[in-house]
Amino acid sequence: MIMKGKKGVILGVANDKSIAYGIAKACSEQGAQIAFTYLNDALKKRVEPIAAEFGSENLVYPCDVSKPEEIVALRESLQKDLGEIDFIVHSIAFAPKEGLSGRFHNISKEAFDIAMDVSVFSLIEITKELKPLLSKNSSILTLTYYGGEKYIPNYNLMGVAKAALDMTTKYLAEDLGRDGIRVNAISAGPIKTLAAAGIGDFRFMLKWNEAHSPLKKNVTIDEVGNSGMYLLSDLSSAVTGEIHHVDSGFNIMGMPAVEFEDG
Ligand code: NAD
Repeated sequence: MIMKGKKGVILGVANDKSIAYGIAKACSEQGAQIAFTYLNDALKKRVEPIAAEFGSENLVYPCDVSKPEEIVALRESLQKDLGEIDFIVHSIAFAPKEGLSGRFHNISKEAFDIAMDVSVFSLIEITKELKPLLSKNSSILTLTYYGGEKYIPNYNLMGVAKAALDMTTKYLAEDLGRDGIRVNAISAGPIKTLAAAGIGDFRFMLKWNEAHSPLKKNVTIDEVGNSGMYLLSDLSSAVTGEIHHVDSGFNIMGMPAVEFEDG
């Protein structure tokens, strides 16, 4: 039981297809106690039974990260119900649809601000607000994607947000290292989730990743969950500021390994 005695909060479960669900499952199987959050009332109905599945029916809280008062309320609830916590999972991203297809230069300031606020600044704000609850040797994990490192068709605005998230992970890691808090990101390969459905021609991304990654397969939320559990546990006690790719090795490829008929 690698996570026995550990307590933490996971933000970003929408349903049992969510990457955050895969992380919750892996942590729970290793003995962790987990608090969950939901974005709005529609998702509350989905998240409550999931929390119950992990024995956390009394640890479910609202948290729309674009509302600072809900992050403050989350800290107060966690303090009351759990006291000290050992880990935080930030598995949240959002960009208006106009930012996820079409010509990049047409993105509006409004869409840009929303994407950066929900997908990037929220990690800083959650960290700042929940820091008083974090134990010495605690771990924060966020979720990123390769489209923040290199161009990916249609990923557009979210690519810019993920680039900012990657650097936020590194600056937070340096800043919080002195407090015994580690901060890492998993760069997951494409997975069919609610958030992914918003990205133009997502099926092509799945096919491309499967065809051109060294392992020739797409990743599952269980695989991301297991890697997440490692980064949240003491097994990774010397790892911080890392962007850990869980993508069947896709990120190492400079060119696809294809053979042409004419040699
Ligand atoms: P998902 O739809 O299951 O999860 C996204 C979550 O973000 C949802 O729970 C949603 O409620 C939450 N959210 C959106 N706006 C919010 C707000 N204002 N306040 C609070 N919560 C909010 O999809 P997912 O694919 O599991 O996404 C989780 C993370 O993984 C995201 O950061 C995403 O970019 C990242 N990621 C996904 C993939 C993929 O292919 N699915 C690949 C790499 C990284």
